[in-house]
Amino acid sequence: MTPSPRLLLTIDYESWFAPSRRYDFLPPETRFQLDEGISRQAIDPILEILGDAKATFYLVGEMVGWYPELPEKIIQAGHEVGFHCHIHRRLNDIKEIEKDLTASAEWIQKHNVRGYRAPMINTVEEVYPLLEKHNFIYSSSLYAPAGTAIKKGGVWEIPVSTLPLLKRPTEFFAPRYMNLKLVRGGEFPYGSSFMSGLFRPLVYKIIERELKAGRSPVIFLHPYEIVTPAGYPQRFIVDMLHHPLLFPFTFNKSKFLKELLRNFPTSTMQDYIKELQ
Ligand SMILES: [Zn+2]
Repeated sequence: MTPSPRLLLTIDYESWFAPSRRYDFLPPETRFQLDEGISRQAIDPILEILGDAKATFYLVGEMVGWYPELPEKIIQAGHEVGFHCHIHRRLNDIKEIEKDLTASAEWIQKHNVRGYRAPMINTVEEVYPLLEKHNFIYSSSLYAPAGTAIKKGGVWEIPVSTLPLLKRPTEFFAPRYMNLKLVRGGEFPYGSSFMSGLFRPLVYKIIERELKAGRSPVIFLHPYEIVTPAGYPQRFIVDMLHHPLLFPFTFNKSKFLKELLRNFPTSTMQDYIKELQ
């Protein structure tokens, strides 16, 4: 069954420094200090902007340790809570992925978390049996054209959306992340907040067109793109000088988000998947 078209709005709930790889291996307490309560303060304004529109929040596990009220607040407002990883870093080794997942097992179980989003949308094929073993029903950890839904064993993969400009790809195996290979293959990964940072009107137009064609685009934003942290982007300047491609992640996209919510229906990923089955 093809679900009725809607925008699958997802928020990868991570701290402002997550796009840089410079902080990944610091002691956890140092990361907590670097966050300065910013991720806790962002949640209320984000929930207010969403209003009655439903979204999926993929939480970084160590942040749930810092601010245990986060999942409850999100669930109480009627949204879905998913898992983004325990410590935000590149995770391509299945043993590391399992260790990372186990570190968050307690809150994952407590809040009945069923959806997974790999950090950097970059994962490996072995992740699907692992997710199944840990009671997940879906993942959103690849890039692929909107409307793609692949059953991997007992787990659905609902990728972040791309627009295929050449021919539509037919095989979807992890890893399938935003790199030159993807773009050279003719796919425009408009679901990434990198693209909505650079090409906002174009991304809006693509979403509008996809919905008219009956497809449900999956896009993601980050909390620091909706509520700009104090002293930002100045505090991120060193990272941006080293990696200028991080720049679009510092743009405030709250106007873009409000425009999307005003014009398009949304739902959680789980509600979408219920209609798939
Ligand atoms: Zn992330």
